[in-house]
Amino acid sequence: MAEYSLFSLVRNAFTGNRAWRPAWRAAEPKPSYDVIIVGGGGHGLATAYYLAKEHGIRDVAVLEKGWIGGGNVGRNTTIVRSNYLLPANSRFYEWSLKLWEGLSAELNYNVMFSQRGVLNLAHSPAQLDAYARRGNAMRLEGIDCELLDRNDVAAFVPGLDVSPDARFPVLGGLLQRRGGTARHDAVAWGFARAADRRGVDIVENCEVTGFLRDSGGRIVGVETTRGTVRAAKVGIAVAGSTSEVIRRAGIDRLPIESHVLQAFVSEPLKPILDTVVTFGAGHLYVSQSDKGGLVFGGDIDGYNSWAQRGNLPVVEDVASLLLTMFPSYGRLRLLRSWGGIMDMSMDGSPIITKGPLPGLYLNAGWCYGGFKATPGSGWCFAWTIAKDEPHPLNAAFTLDRFHAGAVIDERGAGPVPWHH
Ligand SMILES: Cc1cc2nc3c(=O)[nH]c(=O)nc-3n(C[C@H](O)[C@H](O)[C@H](O)COP(=O)(O)OP(=O)(O)OC[C@H]3O[C@@H](n4cnc5c(N)ncnc54)[C@H](O)[C@@H]3O)c2cc1C
Repeated sequence: MAEYSLFSLVRNAFTGNRAWRPAWRAAEPKPSYDVIIVGGGGHGLATAYYLAKEHGIRDVAVLEKGWIGGGNVGRNTTIVRSNYLLPANSRFYEWSLKLWEGLSAELNYNVMFSQRGVLNLAHSPAQLDAYARRGNAMRLEGIDCELLDRNDVAAFVPGLDVSPDARFPVLGGLLQRRGGTARHDAVAWGFARAADRRGVDIVENCEVTGFLRDSGGRIVGVETTRGTVRAAKVGIAVAGSTSEVIRRAGIDRLPIESHVLQAFVSEPLKPILDTVVTFGAGHLYVSQSDKGGLVFGGDIDGYNSWAQRGNLPVVEDVASLLLTMFPSYGRLRLLRSWGGIMDMSMDGSPIITKGPLPGLYLNAGWCYGGFKATPGSGWCFAWTIAKDEPHPLNAAFTLDRFHAGAVIDERGAGPVPWHH
């Protein structure tokens, strides 16, 4: 299925590029399906793909309110890593990272996954100790990582201010070489095309406005702006819209808040930064895209919002952190900024579960880190929907952990919606 071969490129160049087969069909919704996935972001599309591929469930519709790639999957800073402390998170994200490593071949679509390393900087002895602890926990799970000292960091990231009299001197860092970046919309398009080729209907411009229930209270379909669609099972994967969508099923409260997160890109430069660096004395992450722009971001804006754009104080905060790390970037111009709506859970860990109503399945709570989870999340959610039980990799990501007190609190900092 090599659709983008050199031969096809040349042939289409001579025929006015009119003969390309669409990457996915513009499907009309059928009256009923075995499974409906609400939300055509990375997680919804990956779920549909793995339902078809791993479980042979092909009578699937992905219902997307807007267009494929218009949500967070096309708005993120594309960092992929598995450097987590707690076993539930590190096992799940490591499985996702392993899927990333074969994803371009799996989808026959170049998702431009680049394992250029992710380096978390430490600026105090206590922080370096914490990274050593995290690194040891990762190694116990068989995950690669290296603890770097200041000289190693200086050699690994030229241009970084590692001088001892810097405002936040760099003492070292935790490096995961298998981490890196990918091309975000290629991930959406690759999963969409691969799911479509296996028979999944991808229905764009189709907002789910309500849920159908039978007399026993089981969810048996959805109301949409394009009519009623019935299904044996309905999975929700709408990221920042989770609380709004699930309210339409009669559930008023989830342990999730919606917040805006901004991202920024500079004018393009020649290659200057060939890894991902995060600043440990504040919240800042930066990498360089293949087009040359420095892509960076920081904290959520700090108030609940469903607007896909943010405010100026965060722009100033994030830009000043970037210059603290790399003073020479001060001469760059900012090209663009944008925002996405994040589904922030109260322990910084996700929810991939059967329920909370019969016939309903929920995938949410991705906080800052859902892009890297895309293949792993789709794989586990498809398993949960197909088998009506969680895979061991997502068994801890239940909704009732918040009632039971079994939270997966990666930061150990209590129930606030700004973790990941
Ligand atoms: C600025 C920014 C930077 C980020 N950086 C990173 C990063 O570096 N690394 C990382 O791992 N993660 C990152 N993330 C997080 C990551 O992008 C998200 O966690 C992840 O993309 C969420 O899953 P998704 O792709 O399925 O979401 P989305 O793409 O948002 O998909 C949800 C879809 O549901 C649709 N929808 C909503 N309501 C309805 C409805 N009623 N009916 C039908 N469809 C509906 C939406 O239109 C949307 O397309 C970042 C996010 C942002 C915003």
